[in-house]
Amino acid sequence: MCGIVGVVGNSKAIEIVTTGLSRLEYRGYDSAGVAALDEAGDLHTCKEVGKLAALLEKIPAFTKRVGATSTAIGHTRWATHGEPSVTNAHPHVGTMGPFTLAVVHNGIIENHTALRTKLSASGAKFVSATDTETLPFALAHALQQGAASPLAAVQQLLPTLHGNFALVAMAQGVPDELWGTRRGAPLCVGLGQGAANYLVSDPLALAGICERFMFLEDNDVVHVTPHTIEIFAAGERVVRPVQTLDLSADASGKQGFKHFMLKEIHEQPAVVARILSAHTHATTRLPALEFSPTIAASLASATAINIVACGTAYYAGMVGKYYLEQLARIPVNVDVASEFRYRNPPLVAGGVFIAISQSGETADTLAALEHAKAHGQTILVFTNSPHSSMARAADCTIPLLANREIAVASTKAFTAMVLNLLLFALQLGLQRNLLTAAAVQEVIQQLRELPTQLQEQLEHTVPIQSLANNLATMPGRSLLYLGRGLLAPMASEGAIKIKEISYLHAESYPSGEMKHGPIALVEPGLPVINLAASNDGLLEKTLSNLQEVAARRGEVILIADSAATSQLPANLQAIVITVPTVHPLLLPFSFSIPLQLLAYFTATAKGTDVDQPRNLAKSVTVE
Ligand code: GLU
Repeated sequence: MCGIVGVVGNSKAIEIVTTGLSRLEYRGYDSAGVAALDEAGDLHTCKEVGKLAALLEKIPAFTKRVGATSTAIGHTRWATHGEPSVTNAHPHVGTMGPFTLAVVHNGIIENHTALRTKLSASGAKFVSATDTETLPFALAHALQQGAASPLAAVQQLLPTLHGNFALVAMAQGVPDELWGTRRGAPLCVGLGQGAANYLVSDPLALAGICERFMFLEDNDVVHVTPHTIEIFAAGERVVRPVQTLDLSADASGKQGFKHFMLKEIHEQPAVVARILSAHTHATTRLPALEFSPTIAASLASATAINIVACGTAYYAGMVGKYYLEQLARIPVNVDVASEFRYRNPPLVAGGVFIAISQSGETADTLAALEHAKAHGQTILVFTNSPHSSMARAADCTIPLLANREIAVASTKAFTAMVLNLLLFALQLGLQRNLLTAAAVQEVIQQLRELPTQLQEQLEHTVPIQSLANNLATMPGRSLLYLGRGLLAPMASEGAIKIKEISYLHAESYPSGEMKHGPIALVEPGLPVINLAASNDGLLEKTLSNLQEVAARRGEVILIADSAATSQLPANLQAIVITVPTVHPLLLPFSFSIPLQLLAYFTATAKGTDVDQPRNLAKSVTVE
């Protein structure tokens, strides 16, 4: 979460920092700030609470105050410790004796209380409620105690810190030098052309500025000047590979759409086409995910799979469970990452572990992955970020190929997760001789028709808009989502989507579970959104559940294909949203569009901040 941008050696340092922060704002947006050294080496900060726009208003005056500068750092915050306020915003500054440092930080310093007590006893004067503020004081204290340089101070501090974090520091009186380190949260060096270098939490911050990056490993310490980049691991100089990235597609803006989320919903036909072209054979029409011989052997002999993810990726994992169990007959356990890690589940030797994460940096999922790795599992990662920490830790990465997702509420990445999981399950089913090539080709043929179908769905949204208007103005603030089979996790995905961006309270249950508790919530007018298909063998049961809602005068909303809606009893009043009839394995795709759009239109009708909903941020790098 949050964004870090640091610049050395560029006379437009403040401008590059603020432009970079605007690209990373979706990762945290409760406050923001910059620090810069003026020509005399004096440190200045400028911070503001709220969205980055509030800070940007202050930047012209700040730039004037600082004058010529080529050293600056900046941050957009997602508060963990201390409310969003100017005082708690980063950069945080600490002075001990003659040493003053400024630090921006992503993540959590878990032992901040002990550090604060110790540093206070040594004379540190804390002003904020953050864990972060301990860092500049600790670095200044280390220098006061004789550390030879800020680099040595960072190296000394690192082993004493608990938690997951990335930090960048600058020192008063030391122009054109930055120091950084990371553990469990991303940080990379951007290699400038000529006499400038950069430290950022995400290369996107530097789109248009540089193309070459070095991704730091956990516990690396880096010292950057305009002409040099020194990286240390356990005190020894190390070299990290330089990767050239094309960030143009990622930085392409909203392209005429009102929100990134709407743009990303509309990108789904193209995402599906891209995945099919990359992950299936053009001629054989069979899945073509590439596995090394070792991975292929692990997959062939696997008797169990653990899938671990968070939020929307978790629901994609639930869909994946249905696919893998149905098509490859492998028992699959799906866990929320934060529970998996601390439950310490027994893992069978030779087991396969799948982490699903859009960003590849989700702290809980990454920790679960490390746990599985330490217990001898073969690690597969489904991620949209092939350079992420998870991709680097994996034995094998399946790139989602959704391109950068900016809206906090995931749409196209979810679709990409589900499609890649389906192709994976088909490939495994084929390898295990459980499916015939003809059966798999039939599914892939249907998938190839999906982009056109999704496009048509995106062009016929009037009934969804009018339902959304009703939901936005309904007297109650709660709704229920129900589904069976593959549509059970889709009900959960629909509920989390509307919760995230419209702030309506939405619960989801497998339809059959309703009578075991949630039916107590049904009262006249409670909207109950039922997902149903005519061809998954579950329609009759679902129709009975609808009757149970109607009998209690709940508001029945049915999202279903026309063959299913035509079976609604004549006396049952329902609001109906029709989806196209698709192969039963493709139901998650045809239902994604109305669920996403319902959340989107409800949020816009309520006037909430769709792309940057309250309390959330993209890429959750804290536990
Ligand atoms: N824990 C720090 C704070 O609350 C950093 C949070 C972040 O990642 O933005 O200020």
